[in-house]
Amino acid sequence: MENQKKKSKRFVSLRLKWAFGTALGSLIIFFIVTLAMFTSFTQNLFRQERSLLNQGMTNISQQLVKNNGPLTRRSIDRVVDPENDHSLVSGADYRRPVIKELSDGHLIVNIYNPQGKNLLSTGKADVKQSLVNERQVQLYRGTNHRILVGHMPIYSEKSRQVIGYLQVENNLNSYTQSYSQLRLVCIMALCLVVLASGLLGYFLSYFLLRPMSDIHDTVKVISKDPTKEIRVPTINRNDEMSELIDMFNEMLDRMQRYIDQQSQFVSDVSHELRTPVAIIQGHLEMLQRWGKDDPQVLDDSLNASLVETKRMKNLVQEMLELSRAEQVEINFRNQHTVVNDVVHQVFNNFKMLYPEFTFTLDDDVDEKITANIYRDHLEQVLVILCDNAVKYSNDRKEIHLTLSRGMNTVEIGVQDFGEGIAPEDAKRVFDRFYRVDKARSRKKGGNGLGLSIAQRLVEGYHGQISLESSLGAGSLFKVVLPIIDDPEE
Ligand code: ADP
Repeated sequence: MENQKKKSKRFVSLRLKWAFGTALGSLIIFFIVTLAMFTSFTQNLFRQERSLLNQGMTNISQQLVKNNGPLTRRSIDRVVDPENDHSLVSGADYRRPVIKELSDGHLIVNIYNPQGKNLLSTGKADVKQSLVNERQVQLYRGTNHRILVGHMPIYSEKSRQVIGYLQVENNLNSYTQSYSQLRLVCIMALCLVVLASGLLGYFLSYFLLRPMSDIHDTVKVISKDPTKEIRVPTINRNDEMSELIDMFNEMLDRMQRYIDQQSQFVSDVSHELRTPVAIIQGHLEMLQRWGKDDPQVLDDSLNASLVETKRMKNLVQEMLELSRAEQVEINFRNQHTVVNDVVHQVFNNFKMLYPEFTFTLDDDVDEKITANIYRDHLEQVLVILCDNAVKYSNDRKEIHLTLSRGMNTVEIGVQDFGEGIAPEDAKRVFDRFYRVDKARSRKKGGNGLGLSIAQRLVEGYHGQISLESSLGAGSLFKVVLPIIDDPEE
């Protein structure tokens, strides 16, 4: 169900999403900026046109108010064409603006008498006359586009009577032209920016996300067969992607190690369990055939089977301890133990348990040393080492323990003078189930897990365990643990 849902979702490449995102982002930003610029520019332009119209109206009306009675065609002619009548005009300054406004291309001037009859028109008016009481400037719908129209009554300067009406139209041709041109430029620039940023986003993501396809291929192969030795090719870049690839490869290595360890563990365990199970089975078969009636065989077989079950029980117990030892870092943080006490306790216990052995403890430390380790685990490590020392000692039954302090560490040594370990075996004694002499070690009850448990415990607490040994002369195991300077913290 869940899978079906996942599959029904359409696959959209990250590259496309990236390109779309960049294009959309730049579209929004560019749109806002352009809109702001466009609006302020066109508003400015419109304001200029409006003030031109107002100026025109003021200039014309100033000339006309000088008339006493209602405006007539003649009185207007005197203003418009003063060359033919000098009586009204006292200076050249008055005339120039009127002629200029009337002859100006984008203003259409209409003058009406008080009854609304047209007295002068410099062009065809788009808007009907309107006899208003006060000055008004409004936008009207023209034939092609909007136009700006101003209406005003003209009062005589002397009599304060309405002597006519003035209507001035600004057809806003140049404004509309600039407006459309600017709009076209903005739209084209917008398209160009969106296209360019989309393409740039696409190619950038193509370049940056190229390793993704390598990761994808590797994951596909690994998910089919997790044991495949395939890794993502590393890239020569210093960014998140190269970091991700490195981390991914490291994770694959770790996973591989876990898988190997797991299968190795299963094969080791089954191998270890096979012998006792086979022995028990052999005895049971023997009992079934003849043992029922022969008390001697019955007794021997039961005893042998019991020994093997005990061994199996130990083995299972040790395997459990091993798996717990692998998790000390998670389960036993911030455990403080006084090392001196544990060493002394183990030393005393062994002295009591094996009176035939000579145990010596060489303790160089005066003060109490605290290490970050769970007490039972430190004891377990020392017991494993001392047990081995006892087990693998021959004629010279002497075991030597040492306790000393380094800069930030505490060192515990367990030395015996027994059979020793050859250098080629010394490398492997910490491996799971490794025994130098399988048969002899088995006889002594060893499963080859003791040292692996000890090593995992010590390393789990960031310590080290090492071995110095020579065949026939004995072995020295050293455990080094970091010290906590202020245990109260
Ligand atoms: P086991 O339970 O068999 O003793 P360990 O992991 O403790 O398993 O030890 C692994 C092997 O290392 C042993 O089988 C033994 O051969 C060797 N070994 C360990 N300790 C000593 C020692 N003190 N002297 C000689 N050989 C040792």
